[in-house]
Amino acid sequence: MTTRDPLSPLVLIVEDEPQMRRFLRTSLGAHGYRVLEASTAAEAMMLTTSHNPAILLMDLGLPDGDGIAVTRTLREWTQVPIVVISARGREDDKVEALDAGADDYLTKPFGVKELLARMRVALRHAAPEAPEQELVFGALRIDLSRRLVSRDGVEIHLTPIEYKMLTLLARHAGKVLTHRQILKEIWGANALEQPHYVRVHMAELRKKVERDAARPEWLLTEPAVGYRLREP
Ligand code: CA
Repeated sequence: MTTRDPLSPLVLIVEDEPQMRRFLRTSLGAHGYRVLEASTAAEAMMLTTSHNPAILLMDLGLPDGDGIAVTRTLREWTQVPIVVISARGREDDKVEALDAGADDYLTKPFGVKELLARMRVALRHAAPEAPEQELVFGALRIDLSRRLVSRDGVEIHLTPIEYKMLTLLARHAGKVLTHRQILKEIWGANALEQPHYVRVHMAELRKKVERDAARPEWLLTEPAVGYRLREP
């Protein structure tokens, strides 16, 4: 039975609602994941330490604490992918969870297909891989060794900041990066209160990279949260 295959990834579901846990257990089990369940923040901490899961699904409202606090604490010692699953759909909640170190955020209710896709992205980013020479997203190619970007085979000239921003998003393709994360990576911790830096340079980057900057194919806005580079 696939759910008992010791090689299939172990998912820790952190969720206090029994129906939601059952839904996740059944759906994930059917797709070959092994499943472990925690219904409190304390259990989540304990099981992460004792069982070393491959990925966590994290509800935010827990009876003995908050999933964001749990995420922040876990990040002090582990890079295990954490996908937040929450009924809280406000942009502020998403930003807070992502800044705390969550890899992604799904607002309830969500479909199984969407969940599995987000989990695959998070798991892939966690897997150690050989340093890549080239990142390819359909017609968009980034040659990292030569610092060359092209679309439809035509070279695109980017400023150093634009190139940094594109490669940052490309290295995390499929995952949303918050404004703060982008500011910190590119301009450093002193620039965290300058969100217009990101906006201005993203507008320039889109003009160069996208076929139609008003309808981006790659550089997508997550309203009030940040940006995500779409995978082909
Ligand atoms: Ca809850």
